[in-house]
Amino acid sequence: MTFSDLGLSPKVLSAVTDAGYTQPTPIQAGAIPHALLGKDILGIAQTGTGKTASFVLPMLTRLEKGRARARMPRTLILEPTRELAAQVEENFIRYGKNHKLNIALLIGGVSFDEQDKKLERGADVLIATPGRLLDHRERGKLLLNGVEILVIDEADRMLDMGFIPDIERICEMIPFTRQTLFFSATMPPEITKLTEKFLHAPVRVEVSKAASAATNIIQRLVKSGSKPWDKRETLRNLMKAEDAELKNAIIFCNRKVEVSELFRSLLKYDFDAGALHGDMDQRARMQMLANFRDGKLRYLVASDVAARGLDIPDVSHVFNYDVPIHAEDYVHRIGRTGRAGRSGKSFTIATKSDTKYIDAIERLIGNKIEWHDGDLSTVVASEGGEDDAPRRGKGAPRRAGRKDDDRKDRGERKPRERHARHSEDAAPATVREDQPVVAEVEVADIGERRARKDAIRSENTERKSSDRNEQRAPERGDTRPQRDSNRPARHRQEDNDTTVGFGDDMPAFMRIVAKV
Ligand code: AMP
Repeated sequence: MTFSDLGLSPKVLSAVTDAGYTQPTPIQAGAIPHALLGKDILGIAQTGTGKTASFVLPMLTRLEKGRARARMPRTLILEPTRELAAQVEENFIRYGKNHKLNIALLIGGVSFDEQDKKLERGADVLIATPGRLLDHRERGKLLLNGVEILVIDEADRMLDMGFIPDIERICEMIPFTRQTLFFSATMPPEITKLTEKFLHAPVRVEVSKAASAATNIIQRLVKSGSKPWDKRETLRNLMKAEDAELKNAIIFCNRKVEVSELFRSLLKYDFDAGALHGDMDQRARMQMLANFRDGKLRYLVASDVAARGLDIPDVSHVFNYDVPIHAEDYVHRIGRTGRAGRSGKSFTIATKSDTKYIDAIERLIGNKIEWHDGDLSTVVASEGGEDDAPRRGKGAPRRAGRKDDDRKDRGERKPRERHARHSEDAAPATVREDQPVVAEVEVADIGERRARKDAIRSENTERKSSDRNEQRAPERGDTRPQRDSNRPARHRQEDNDTTVGFGDDMPAFMRIVAKV
């Protein structure tokens, strides 16, 4: 099958040829002809399968008739993150180079004014994250009753990020007669319910099993002691061992606190690294991503929320600094390498406390993952015998010894790292992005309290700069921690710190920082 068999317009076909594509991918071949006929689509596909073009190309063809009116966009594409939204915009620019379309991108972290102007001019294509879209609507700058085509992309990610109530609201604002193109990598029950409610007789196009990991990726587990300095040393050794084959790598952490710490540590050891997490402002994130894409950075330390779905071609390696708590995240992470049929390598650093997560991943992918250099039974506990020791509480013995050959890491160990250590040992509770970090603090000695207080202050200052559009509770206008009763607890985890103690129910007095 070729692109010209799909029914796309000559203008679109010419842009596709210029992009160098000769054959449609399976999701494109399956979805495009139906989308051109105006049917609803349920596309079950991950990024990397060509799914963006599977909705952009038929939309461009259909948009050739008609024109936009002020504040009444003709089409709407919802994306869970700003980066994904920006990527979709790039796709529209690339494939729509023969069209004269107005494209508006509504994402957080940038001013409303420019976005207002674009809406006022009339947008043929509106690409938005849910929070910013609703903000515009509430300000009276946007009418959704002219939307003819609605795309909901990465729906399972929307679910993880707590956006489903927003998505439902938005769907209800758009005329019933619209066409809906709905994409998700996985189909958890909440997503199935949503499709039953908002899609009309959809054509289902499934290109690969949601849980399948590409076979062209070499996957290995790497044993490690569980302390941060053990894990960092394991990672550095791996990076050095892989150096000859390693073009570039994404290093995934479970929490943004670890992203920051690992990033700083790698810089100290002269690795050419950048960091990507949800608290960075939009410009810094885009710049970091561009540097990594352009080969100016060799390593990108990232959290799941920041990195999921990003199209970064040709990543040779993925390192999981932490075993992901949700097995599906493993598939998404390692899917960053081995794209478009290329080969790739992934290494997952595993500690004794990760066993149950590894079991879940192996169940999901239906395979055992090989150990790189012996399994966990051969791990020697850190000096001091603290590996896998229970979480230290008040009065418990302080950490005894550390590795002598890791002096740099000793120097950099700061109060926040202690928090990470506590939370690392704790059960993987879930927490919202806007959960104050103070929830992790245990009362210890005075010196420690003072240091923690500083850490909390700096964390909260960072937090303020984070935009609520992304990774935030759906209840906009309220910056307090939110409970999301619509979602099961496992979905409340974002790329955030694990919580302990009171979790979501933390009483107000716990947020008051003690004077010392
Ligand atoms: P996506 O799944 O939309 O993130 O696309 C993944 C990558 O595949 C992007 O870099 C696209 O440019 C590329 N791509 C999309 N369609 C095709 C195609 N038909 N042939 C080759 N590459 C494609």
